[in-house]
Amino acid sequence: MTIYTDNRLLQVGLIGGTLSRHWGNMREMTAQNSAYQRLDIPPEKILHFHQVHSDTIISVHTSDEAQRIQRDPLHQADAWLLTTSGWGAAILTADCVPLFLWDEQARVFALAHCGWRGVVKRLPFLTAQAIRKTPGTEKILGWLGPHIQVCCFEVKEDVASQFSPDSLHYEKGKIFVNLNLEILHQLQEAGLSRTDIKTPYYCTCGDKENFFSWRRDHKKDSLLSFIYKP
Ligand SMILES: [Zn+2]
Repeated sequence: MTIYTDNRLLQVGLIGGTLSRHWGNMREMTAQNSAYQRLDIPPEKILHFHQVHSDTIISVHTSDEAQRIQRDPLHQADAWLLTTSGWGAAILTADCVPLFLWDEQARVFALAHCGWRGVVKRLPFLTAQAIRKTPGTEKILGWLGPHIQVCCFEVKEDVASQFSPDSLHYEKGKIFVNLNLEILHQLQEAGLSRTDIKTPYYCTCGDKENFFSWRRDHKKDSLLSFIYKP
């Protein structure tokens, strides 16, 4: 039962990370709820949406807004941006990138579901830019949770052509996309410093013991990523 996380979250009073597959298939709300219970997080304070590989960001600035969203969980979006404590948000992934962004004072924190389509739609850039526009934010930190890495993310030309050449890797006649590089590029474009973004190399597709992977298993089993400010 592992939580993949970045210590810098805890240092500013945020709880967050990506749960290993041992926690269960998080598409099932019962599995999610028991995970929150173990983590000592009130499940009713975690917001959800329907992920649609879009560039839509939902911003939540007050407890009233959060409650409204919680009552109507049919929102379609792919990134959360919160500035209110006592609330958190979750996303589901099985190869897509869970992108965590927050400012040094934890005034604002974000969690984005970045599949390759979301990356092409520049969701990482847009989410970072939205944080930057939040009053009072100075230094923004970032962490990329477990996702499909360049070792396994083979694509055809139609997908490859949508990425910058720098993010492609060619080997034995095959093309691979490096989502880390593409996201790093977008975050730096939004003003983040390279040294403030961490990209640990956990490959969901290559590590069956710890992760679910759509590419590997073609099942809908999903990992949970969450961020919460008590
Ligand atoms: Zn891999």
